[in-house]
Parts: sequence; structure tokens; C-alpha cells
Amino acid sequence: MHSLKRLVILGGGSAGWMTAAALARTFTTQQYDVTVIESSDIGTVSVGEATIPNIRQFNQMLGIDENDFLRKTQGTFKLGIEFVDWFKPGSRYMHPFGPYGVALYGVPFHHYWLRQQHQTSANSRAEPLDLSRYCLEWAAAKDNQFCRPQQGSKTPLAHLQYAFHFDAVEYARYLKNYALERGVKLIDDRFIAAQMAPSGDITALELAQSGKVEGDLFIDCSGFKALLIEKTLQVGYEDWRHWLPCDTAVAQTCESITELKPYTRATARPAGWQWQIPLQHRIGNGHVFSSRFMSDDEATQQLADSLPAKALSEPRTLRWQNGKRHKAWHKNCVAIGLSAGFIEPLESTGLQLIQSGISRLISLFPQHRCSDADRAAYNRYTDFEIERIRDFVILHYKATERDDSAFWRYCQHMEIPDTLADKIALYQSSGRIFRDNSEMFNEISWFSVLNGQGIQPQSYHPMANAIPAQELDNLMDKITQAIAAGKAQMPAHQDYISQQCRSI
Ligand SMILES: Cc1cc2nc3c(=O)[nH]c(=O)nc-3n(C[C@H](O)[C@H](O)[C@H](O)COP(=O)(O)OP(=O)(O)OC[C@H]3O[C@@H](n4cnc5c(N)ncnc54)[C@H](O)[C@@H]3O)c2cc1C
Repeated sequence: MHSLKRLVILGGGSAGWMTAAALARTFTTQQYDVTVIESSDIGTVSVGEATIPNIRQFNQMLGIDENDFLRKTQGTFKLGIEFVDWFKPGSRYMHPFGPYGVALYGVPFHHYWLRQQHQTSANSRAEPLDLSRYCLEWAAAKDNQFCRPQQGSKTPLAHLQYAFHFDAVEYARYLKNYALERGVKLIDDRFIAAQMAPSGDITALELAQSGKVEGDLFIDCSGFKALLIEKTLQVGYEDWRHWLPCDTAVAQTCESITELKPYTRATARPAGWQWQIPLQHRIGNGHVFSSRFMSDDEATQQLADSLPAKALSEPRTLRWQNGKRHKAWHKNCVAIGLSAGFIEPLESTGLQLIQSGISRLISLFPQHRCSDADRAAYNRYTDFEIERIRDFVILHYKATERDDSAFWRYCQHMEIPDTLADKIALYQSSGRIFRDNSEMFNEISWFSVLNGQGIQPQSYHPMANAIPAQELDNLMDKITQAIAAGKAQMPAHQDYISQQCRSI
């Protein structure tokens, strides 16, 4: 039986080096021979600076020291994403990484909050209930506070959820050093073409200077070009731009100004939105927009006009099609990263898709040769994950009162996938949210965005009425007190970084 030994990764962006690092950590050099081919003439996409909490598991799996990693990547901490002007101009909400309150008698907390909300709206003199008082991550983010979870704390600080912002180029470099130290080989050269066997498998890659590199399993991390999975194997692409019309971004860095914010900000704009990602040494900014509704020049000008401080780089334009390959694994080639598909960066899911692609590949790693069963399982789970992320991101555009531009009117009236329509309808009728199998975003995330985008359920879980009103008031007060107590222990984000992981 043919033995699979030589693993060839084409591409040295975040996808290529995350994959190489994970393979180097999982397997020994006696088991597999891992080679990365990258071209320093071509470069990488060099964005991908905001993450979600799962990235910590990836770093932990690699055994990375978090402070060392943050120092070397100019990293900061992230407690969620603030959405400004999305529901309507002037609106503001947070998609925090941590939970709201606690589930009571098996009923998620948001149903109790909805009950209180219903009572409050019936009483026109009462104050609306500030959701941030029930979520430590949100409350701390509002005041630029941060510290890591404090084991043993009797407050929600014991389980604080966080992610990072970091410099994408430095992150790839960090992982490159990690992988090279563990025996991964590097070839800096340009891919020209692939050689194929009669079976349709790839046998070798031809490079401009170094001749050919033979392999048994090829991992396509060549970015949007998808040189192996598409240019060579032509698996085809499912285009989702009718649901996610933003297909271009202008990115530009600027000086750091105020206190370091422990969250990403996403501000809605006439034909898309703008990101602000605070790093230790600079702020990353980007204007994501739909080329059907705005020209590059106009988008670049809008970005320049709204930079919070002096620009540090020239604006850079990036283009993509939201969507996915029909098959991420075909023959003996697995696409990971932008070559496999992309959902625009609103919910910072690019690196997450890479991470889960890697962990799926390692779980289904072929022993002697690629089997149809491995490929089918990989493709099924990959499709499921990206389709549910797609739905979650579409929700931000669809559920809006904004009708102040042709772009927002299009979004308001566009058709949406049935899977998303069902989720919205269920929430609208009863406040219920069900997480389908292992979909990436949980009930907390869905609630944050459904509520933040102004969808008001007609009712809530009937069990939420089981608690007498006074008892519920007391419980809600206890939760806000516990959150306030946890928050009181948290230093300023800026100070925490200075103490723990300031870059040299
Ligand atoms: C505007 C934008 C914003 C984003 N923001 C976020 C975010 O906030 N959070 C997040 O998680 N993700 C984000 N992403 C996604 C994230 O940037 C990518 O998932 C991540 O950088 C992985 O890219 P990659 O390695 O697949 O591709 P690339 O970085 O493009 O790397 C491709 C590699 O292939 C090599 N290559 C290409 N052609 C050849 C050739 N002919 N020969 C040899 N080598 C070649 C290149 O040299 C490079 O090394 C964003 C993406 C975009 C477009």
C-alpha cells in the first residue's frame, strides 16, 4: 500500500504557517516530512488581525507562552466587537465573548431579561434594562478594562472569555519560527505548475528556480489564488455575494492614540462598514464595502477622512468573493485558508476557519492514502461550519432599519438563506435560539446580534414566568452586583499590557 509521508504546503501566509506549526506539533519528523513553499516576491494578504476566543486553544495546543506571543506580535486583548450604527444611525451594541447572567432552572438568561424587558416596555416610565450590566466582558470593554480570568474568584471573572488583536505579519513570522525550529523545511520560490498522476492526484509542484518538489499530500494555502484546489483541480466555487455584497476593502494603519480599547469596533458606513483594531504600536483600519455600490476612490477617501490619527501606511485595496469551494478536500489536496473560501471579516472568522480546518485535517489524517470517507467527512463539516458563519454575518446586514443608502436598502430587501430565515422567525416568535449541532457561534452570540439589530421577540420562554417577580428582581440584582464586583478587580487594559506583555 502506498505510504503517505511527504506533506507539501503551498503558501506561507497565516494559513500556511498555522498549518505547518500544528503539523510540526502533532507529528514527529520521523513520521512526516513537512515542506512549506512561499514566495517572498508575492507576499501575503497581511490582514487578519482580530480573532475570536478559540485562537487561545490553538496557541495552547502549540504550547505557546501567551505573553511572549503578545509581545512579539504587538498584541492586545479583545473582549468582543462593538457594532456602531448598524441597526440605525446612532445605535450601538456589543457582541461580547462572554455570557449574560446565568441560566436559571435550565432556561437561558436572556429569556428572563426579555421578561423584564416586556414588563419595562409596558411601564412607559421605567428605564430600559441596560444589557451590559449582565455581561462582564461587555461591562469591562465599555470602560477599557481587562485582566485574564482569575481562578478562584467568586465573580464571573473566574471564567472571563477573551481573544486577541495582533499584527498579522508578526503572527505568521512567529509561527514560521516555531515550525522551522521543529523541523519544517522552507523553500522560498514561485510555484509555476503542478504535475499530475493519471488518477488526478497531484504528484509534484514545479517551481521557478528550485525544480520540482514531490509530495503525497498537498495543502493549498496559496490564498485567494487557490493555485492547487482551483487553478489545478478546478473544483469550482459557490459565490455568496448576493447575500454578502461587500467584496472589497481598503486597509490602512494609523498611529495609536487614546487608551487601548479591549475590543474591535465595526462602524456601519453607506456601502459597508469600517474596522478599527487597536494594537500596541498602531491602529489597524479598514473600510469594507460593496464595489456595486461604491467606487474604490470614494471608499479610500472615506477611510482617510475618518482615520482616528495620522496615517502610517498607504491605503491598500483587497478584493474577494464571499463564498466557498465546492470541495475543500479533493484528490490529495486540502485547501486551508483563503483558498478554501472566505466570509468577509465582520466577525473575525478567517483565522478560526483555518484553525478548524487544521484540526479537522489532523482528526481525519490519512494513514496510507486519502480515502473517499475522509474527504467526504472533511468536506461535509467544512461546508456546515462556513455556511452557519455565513448566516450569522448576513444577519447583521439583513436585520437593520437603515435605508439611508442604496446599499442598505438592498440588504434590507434581499432574500436570505432558509437556515437563517428559520432562526430569525423562531427568535421573533418566542425568543428561542437553538444552536445547530456544533455550529461555531453559540446562543450568546446569536442573541447579542439578534437583539442588537433590533429584532424584538413577541414572547419568551414560558418557564421564565415561573419565578415570582420580586424573586426575579433580586436575582437580576445579584447578577449585576457579581459583575460589578468582578469588574472592580480589573485594571485598565493599557496597564495590564504594560505589566504583562508590552512589546520591547
Ligand atoms: C480585508 C480582510 C480583512 C481580514 N480580517 C480578518 C480578521 O480580522 N480576522 C481574521 O481572523 N481573519 C481576517 N481575514 C482573513 C485572514 O486575513 C486570512 O484568513 C489569513 O490571513 C490567511 O490568509 P492565507 O494564508 O490563506 O493567504 P495569504 O496571506 O494570501 O497567503 C498566501 C501565500 O501563498 C503564497 N503564494 C501565492 N502565490 C504563490 C506562488 N505562485 N508561488 C509561491 N507562493 C505563492 C504567498 O507568497 C503567501 O505566502 C481578513 C481578510 C481580508 C481580505
